[in-house]
Amino acid sequence: MPAGETPGLPPDLDLLSGIEDVVPAGLARAVREVPLVDHHVHGAFTADVERSAFEYALVEASTDPVPAWDSAFATPLGLSLRRWCAPLLGLPAHAGGEEYWEARSALGADELARRFTSAAGVERWVVDTGFSGGSVQSPTALAGTGGGTWSEIVRLEPMVERVVAEVAPADVADEVRTRLAAATAGPEQVGVKSIAAYRCGFDIDWSRPTDAAVAAAASALAAATPDGETPRVADPVLIAFAVHEAAALGLPIQLHVGFGDRDLDLHRTDPLLLLPLLRTVTVPVLLLHCYPFHRQAAYLAQAFDHVSFDIGLAINYLGPRSVELVGEAMELAPFAKQLYSSDAFGPPELHFLGSVLWRRGMAVTLGTWLRRGDCSEADAVDALHAIAGRNARRVYGLPG
Ligand SMILES: [Zn+2]
Repeated sequence: MPAGETPGLPPDLDLLSGIEDVVPAGLARAVREVPLVDHHVHGAFTADVERSAFEYALVEASTDPVPAWDSAFATPLGLSLRRWCAPLLGLPAHAGGEEYWEARSALGADELARRFTSAAGVERWVVDTGFSGGSVQSPTALAGTGGGTWSEIVRLEPMVERVVAEVAPADVADEVRTRLAAATAGPEQVGVKSIAAYRCGFDIDWSRPTDAAVAAAASALAAATPDGETPRVADPVLIAFAVHEAAALGLPIQLHVGFGDRDLDLHRTDPLLLLPLLRTVTVPVLLLHCYPFHRQAAYLAQAFDHVSFDIGLAINYLGPRSVELVGEAMELAPFAKQLYSSDAFGPPELHFLGSVLWRRGMAVTLGTWLRRGDCSEADAVDALHAIAGRNARRVYGLPG
């Protein structure tokens, strides 16, 4: 496929199967055809993986192998994977886990990535490159298999960690400023991301740290890091500093919120704990994933002009119930304040499935409103286009 061209969904995909009666024809066409900006996503696997690694990649909350008595295929995500991804492997919908794994294994990592990412109907991948860069595609490679084009999000914590490892504590603040400006100077680098949620939680002092406080925190971290090891930044001072410096550069800031793996203290990632920060900065703040705090996130998105949110990751993990999740995300926030994201990482099925499940959720939610007379077709299609891509183009200043 020529670079930059956006492929559509596979022509034979029965996207609205079982919900045809709910979705009037004009909306049905728009839901199928709207190209997406996936504003928070990672690359697909670049090498063949063992079955255990594949199943592990489908169980976000676990850090252990899936036990023998359980199966990643017997989960809400597993059901949706077998329903929607099996046909792209030439299998009937609902094929069993064994059959699915066999068909998948017959294809190489490249062919799997090409087949599933190109079926998502994504025109731009906004890629978070901050995690396991070696085992998954680069942004260029993702756009190479998936079509469309790409932008990049720069992770704050690894940058601070490298600086702490390489310069004297007194120079850390200046060096972070210099590197942050350099790393985000290109047209492809459209924002930054913090995983404060994983490192210290949101119940911290969000005021802007002084350079002296940064030097003291860097010194303590360097002293606590064994020789030869990379420092692990979990100090609220260093994290708040990086976030405020990104804001000073005018960069959109993505924050991981809510649902993640076991490392996370979920109760410390309620986005309402971010109120002190949201009252201070004025750059766009993107609350990522948010489940099960998506209603709090939607509240914040309607309360603050510069705050937007998504329900990525959870769309895939809720499987059939993602229809209800999409509906809940449509409850309160203005339609200009929500963005589409798959948060796919690893199995390329997730890049495709996020798109399918979001389109179906929007079809049911908006189709129901339309049939009840709550909105016009033009209203429904406009809200669809806003969340699919228009909001991301505005927030990140993307062309198109
Ligand atoms: Zn992610």
